[in-house]
Amino acid sequence: MNHETALSKAKEIADRVLAPAAGRNDREGRFSTEAVDALGRAGLLGLAVPAEFGGTGLGAGTFAAVTATLAEADASVAMVYLMHICAAATIAAARPSDVVRRILKEIGSGGHLSTLAFSESGSRSHFWAPVSRAHRNSSGVRITARKSFVTSAGRAQSYVVSSLAPEGAGPTNSTLYLVPAGVRGLSVEGSWDGLGLRANASAPMMLDDCEVPYELQLTNDDAGFQAMLEVVLPQFNLGTAAVALGICRGVVAATATHLKSARFEHLGQSLGESLPTLRAQLATMQIETDGLSARVDDLVAHLERPRGTTLLRVLETKAAAGDIAIGVTSTAMRVCGGAAFSKHLSIERFFRDAQACAVMAPTGDVLREFIARAVLDMPLF
Ligand SMILES: Cc1cc2nc3c(=O)[nH]c(=O)nc-3n(C[C@H](O)[C@H](O)[C@H](O)COP(=O)(O)OP(=O)(O)OC[C@H]3O[C@@H](n4cnc5c(N)ncnc54)[C@H](O)[C@@H]3O)c2cc1C
Repeated sequence: MNHETALSKAKEIADRVLAPAAGRNDREGRFSTEAVDALGRAGLLGLAVPAEFGGTGLGAGTFAAVTATLAEADASVAMVYLMHICAAATIAAARPSDVVRRILKEIGSGGHLSTLAFSESGSRSHFWAPVSRAHRNSSGVRITARKSFVTSAGRAQSYVVSSLAPEGAGPTNSTLYLVPAGVRGLSVEGSWDGLGLRANASAPMMLDDCEVPYELQLTNDDAGFQAMLEVVLPQFNLGTAAVALGICRGVVAATATHLKSARFEHLGQSLGESLPTLRAQLATMQIETDGLSARVDDLVAHLERPRGTTLLRVLETKAAAGDIAIGVTSTAMRVCGGAAFSKHLSIERFFRDAQACAVMAPTGDVLREFIARAVLDMPLF
């Protein structure tokens, strides 16, 4: 598979599986197993997995393009996909063991969905500082942790879990572990009823004295924080920006359709033909969307050829993307008036989904704090 075939497969799935069901799945808060199955069959779940394990080994540019294409049809599915790719990249970067290799092959062959379980009730959006601690036993560790939001909760085949290392001295001395679904003590705590991304099952999960064998420890002790920053953060921020881009593209298209089809019959014109103010606002939405597209391309270029400004771009792109998605979808709500407000169009779903891009950690506020610290040559943590 190359970049073009990956993208055309994503577009085919978006049109055939995601778009027709997005409205109903949003209303009912229904997780789309059909979408995950289709992505697996198309080889897209193995995008971040090296070819030796059956994956495609395609890079940041393809990941961003596929994610944006999915988000244009259904941002909930795109977020499930993004979390899976981040988890798969973490597993692919892990200490090799037979069981890790087997799971990578399952992901590479499209039969295994994974996700990240970092955020905890105790440290909230400060995912880099878990309050749970792993306790060593003869075969590995036991973990008790209250994870506050886990996308694909109860739907994934495995969870990349953070916890303080058994002897970790400080708040960021964490370790990452892979916890397979079905392990004794692992449970979904309640249901997911979010404002947006309603179809991605981001429910809380509990680990109650879960036993994790040594072979499923993904990083060295205390090296979880480093993996979060070096492996997860660039992919997560790029993917979230791509979700925001897909949302913007989707809402621009939906707004244009409405402005062309809704009519002032007494004037004999469509809304778009009739009102320059609506055309001007649509133009602003288009400008913002293409600006975000350029930002995403710029971040891809920085990740493919890292340089001194790469960390800043990683931080800035997600911060900007969250604000742009909220701004563009808010404008769409205004432009499409009561038709959008009364939920007759997909626009209000895009508007609600867009709010998550700034709320998901690292949040837009935290990113600003990090960006300013970087500019001022202050330590980030
Ligand atoms: C749809 C969805 C899916 C999610 N999926 C996952 C997942 O799969 N895995 C996972 O681990 N987590 C997931 N999360 C959790 C997410 O990443 C955040 O941890 C969570 O949204 C934080 O919410 P909170 O109420 O705990 O925020 P709080 O930490 O209580 O923050 C409240 C406010 O304070 C601000 N704030 C906090 N710290 C600072 C600071 N230092 N400087 C300035 N402002 C600050 C925040 O920006 C926010 O506005 C998901 C969240 C959502 C909404």
